Order: sequence, then C-alpha cells, then structure tokens
Amino acid sequence: MSRELAELIFPEVTKSTSDYEKVYPLRLDENGKQQCCVRFAPSPTGFLHIGAIYTALINRLFADHKEGKFLLRIEDTDQKRSVPGAVEEIVTTFDLFNIKVDEGATSSDSSKGEYGPYFQSQRKEIYEAFAKELLSRGDAYPCFCSPEDLEELRQRQMDEKSPVMGYAESDARCRRLTSEEQIARIEGGDDYIIRLRSRGSHEQTRVFIDGLRGELEMPVNNQDIVIIKADGLPTYHFAHSVDDHLMRTSHVIRADEWISSLPIHVELFEIQGFDLPEFIHLSPILKQDGNSRRKLSKRLDPEAKASYYIEVGYPLPAVKDYLMNIANSNYEDWRRDNPDADIVDFPFDIYKTSVSGALFDFDKLGNIAKKYVGSMSEEEIMTAYSEWLQADLDTDENHDSRQVMRSWLQDRRTDFEHSITIWHEGRLDVAKWSDIYENYPYLYDRSFSVRVPQVPEDFIEQKNEVISILKAYLNSYDHSDDNSSWFGKIREIAVQFNYAAKPKDFKKNPDQYKGSIVHVSSYIRFAITHALNTPDLHSMICFIGEEEMRLRVEKMISIFSDL
Ligand code: GLU
Repeated sequence: MSRELAELIFPEVTKSTSDYEKVYPLRLDENGKQQCCVRFAPSPTGFLHIGAIYTALINRLFADHKEGKFLLRIEDTDQKRSVPGAVEEIVTTFDLFNIKVDEGATSSDSSKGEYGPYFQSQRKEIYEAFAKELLSRGDAYPCFCSPEDLEELRQRQMDEKSPVMGYAESDARCRRLTSEEQIARIEGGDDYIIRLRSRGSHEQTRVFIDGLRGELEMPVNNQDIVIIKADGLPTYHFAHSVDDHLMRTSHVIRADEWISSLPIHVELFEIQGFDLPEFIHLSPILKQDGNSRRKLSKRLDPEAKASYYIEVGYPLPAVKDYLMNIANSNYEDWRRDNPDADIVDFPFDIYKTSVSGALFDFDKLGNIAKKYVGSMSEEEIMTAYSEWLQADLDTDENHDSRQVMRSWLQDRRTDFEHSITIWHEGRLDVAKWSDIYENYPYLYDRSFSVRVPQVPEDFIEQKNEVISILKAYLNSYDHSDDNSSWFGKIREIAVQFNYAAKPKDFKKNPDQYKGSIVHVSSYIRFAITHALNTPDLHSMICFIGEEEMRLRVEKMISIFSDL
C-alpha cells in the first residue's frame, strides 16, 4: 500500500534513488579511498556574514590539505527568503577574498562540476525521488494537519505539560492514518505536506560525534519533521541529507548553530541508509558587549557583514590573515616567519580551532592590516587603492572623501604617488584604504585651511607665545630651503625664544628653559596639520606648497588671537 501511496503522490517521478546513486559516483582517489569533499552551503538571503567567509576559508584550506574538493551549493529552497543578487554577491565576495571553489555556483545561473545541479531549487526531482523512496518504505507519510491543528496541538501539550512536544510520537496524528485513508484524502483533494516517520522517542539519548568536540550526548530526534513542504520543495534538513549524500561530502564543516539539528540530520542520513559524513561545527566569532559576549550580529554590528571590509577598504589578504589567527593561534608566528607565503602553505589543523568562540578584535585586525599595508610596495598600494576607489562602494559615510581622492588620482596622479612615500615610509598608520583620507586630511583635503581644529589645552595656556613663534616661523621661512636649513631655522627660533635646541638639555635643566625644540616644532606642526603626530613635516610642506602652508599658519595665528 505504501508503494501505491508513493505512486499517487509522485506519479511523475520515474528515476529511483539507485539511479541517482549511479549518476553521482563515489569520489574515490587512485587507491580507491574516499576523496575528501567539503562544501559551503549558503542560503542566498542577501547577507554574507564575515563568519561565512571564515567558514568558507576553513573549508577551502581543509580541502587543500586533503587534496579534496570544495564546492559551493546554493540552498535556495526557501523562496520567500531568497534575495535577488545574493548569489552574485557570494560569488564576487569569494573572488575578492580569493576563495576558489572547485565545483558549484559560479553566478546566479551558472555552475561547474559533475555533481550538480548546485542550486537546490533545481534539484526538485532528486528530492522527490528520495521522498518517494521514504514514502514507499513507510518511513514518510503525508500530513494533512492545518496550521490551526498544529497550534491546537502545541497549546494542549503546553497545558498538559506533556513530555512529548511537537509533531512527534503518539501526538503525530497523521502518522496513524491507514494507507486507505491517506489515499482517499489525497484523491479527495486535501492539502498535505510530507513528514518523516521518526524512529526516536523523547526518552532516548545517544552519542553524536562532532569533529571538534568529540562525543556529545544528546536526545535523539523524535520529531516527524517536514521533509517536503506545501510548495513541493524540500526543507533544509531533508535537502541537506540528500545533497551531502549525493555530492559525496566527506566532511560537513559549518557553524555550530547547527549542532542542535545534528540528531535530525543523523536520523535522516541513517533512515535513508547513507554513510554519515564527519560533522565539524565551528564556533562563531563573538563580540564583547558590556560584560557579556555575543555573536556578531547583522543588525547591530556593521563589521558582521563581509562587505563591510570591502567597503572601508581593508586589504582582504590581511582580513584572511586575521581570520586564520582566529582559527589557529599558531598562525601569527607562522605568518611572521613566512610573510610572503600563501595561506595554503600554513600547516592548518582544523582540530585545533577553538570551540569556545573567538572574540572579534578590531585592534588585532588593524595591526595585522597595518603591517600588511606596511609591507606593500608603493606601486602595490597605488594599484590596490585605485581599484578600491574605482569600485562601486560609495556609502553615505565615505562618499565625499572617495570623491576627493578620485579627483587626486585623476588630476594629480604623480603628486599622489609621491605623497604615498610621505606617509608610507617607516610608519604603520594605514589599516584600510579609507584611512588614507581619514588619517591625512592635511595632505589631501583641498579646503583644509578652513577647518577649525580643537586646540590642546596647554597650547591655549601659551597662546601669546605660540602666536609669536608662528610669526617668527613665517618670517624666517624660505621655500627654497632644504630639510636641514629649514630645521636649522626652527632651531634658531627655539633658541631665540629660550627653548632648548636639544631636548636632552631641557631635560637636564628644566628651569633654565621654557621648553625644548620639541615644543616649538609641535606648535608649527599643529598649525599646519591640526595634529601632533604626523609624517615628516618638511616633506609635507613641500607637498602642499608654500602658499597653502602660509595660509594655514596665518589662519592658526588668527584662531589663537581670537582665543
Ligand atoms: N543553508 C544553511 C545555512 O545557510 C547551511 C547549513 C549547513 O552548512 O549545513 O546556514
């Protein structure tokens, strides 16, 4: 009778599960052993989390180290949540991060590989064949319960404090229908979905194995979960079992939010007679929030989005380095010893990834990125920065500054090239491309002289002194001076105003001087840059030109005069 029911539900399904077993042969290496195959299986919901890049990167490296395959499967069976353009975003982001896939989606309507289709929405007939098989063996059944019936069941279970919750065991009403009843209702046109007939009971637990955590004792699945929804498409759980079986996935490496679904997944694999892959659940990237830690949230944290790193312009190899640091703590030492090596050469060990979840650390990312930019040649910076500026990434926040910098590249490219040497030499200040404008507005903002800075308190206390020093500086300034004559004049001003020409003289006899040359230079530096820590001042003056420099110093004199 079950066979009759299966035929009634899926009359058009002519291929059997064993036909599919033949279409997708086992992946065997030359010794006849199962080849490693891992996968990344995003739902195209239009939001690629940085944790997804982390997971994909780990899958990629895992496959590389085992000479295996890494595939990209698009889990788009939840049509309501699928967002147009999301697959393109995934593919482009993978490209930008240089995470290559061996098989799977290559755009929203193309893919490569022999184990496809790699879009779940195109695998309907495959799922139907497997659902048909389960129906015909009595391991699945049609359920006619309406949403109201399910709500009523839930309410009753709550009221009775039932040990069985959900659509399970003796509370799974449609389980008890005879084949005749099922057939009659379907023929009568009743709506239905298809559920698994679970073999579990709420009283049972068993050990599940997670590659990182080892043995996990958990309740077995007792839910008659839906395998085929009202729209005819499979649920995620069912599709996962069929796909990972037929795609011959050897290791399922994914986020640990799926650990709680492991009992369902294992039951689905076992009931269908599939070998279990090794399940490895990665811990999430956490954020310190007050006294507690939480997952990076797409709602609260801009840095949760992979696109954030692209938008603000972190060099993506540095972001990968940072993620690798999270994965294996010995990565940092390895990178220090092998600054130019490819990540794939790192002896990555998935079994050493932390299970407690790593804290996202912007300072660390910043340091890694600064070192990375520091190690780039000026030419490489120029290329990467130009690419970033040309990319279509303008957000409200950086729209204006990107516009300004684009015009530098267009109108004064050679000058800009030269300016890189000014801030690049011996300094590690730039972690991301947006920092260039943010850190050095005094080099690039063409209306810098109209800015009004926050003046440090100790400068205000010395305001008359500062004004006199700045005036003396302007009087003595000669644009044809080289660096050492320019500085010689500042030294003369220092001496004239009774500041020690050498900082150590001031340290030795603080009572004899008003300060040292350091104070005098800092007034001038501040007047020209509104900052106290900057790249070499003389180089910057040469870059902005005499007129602009004079304008800024005069402006500062008037700001101080008005204080
Ligand atoms: N589509 C699921 C997700 O987006 C995949 C989970 C898995 O890797 O099995 O999280």
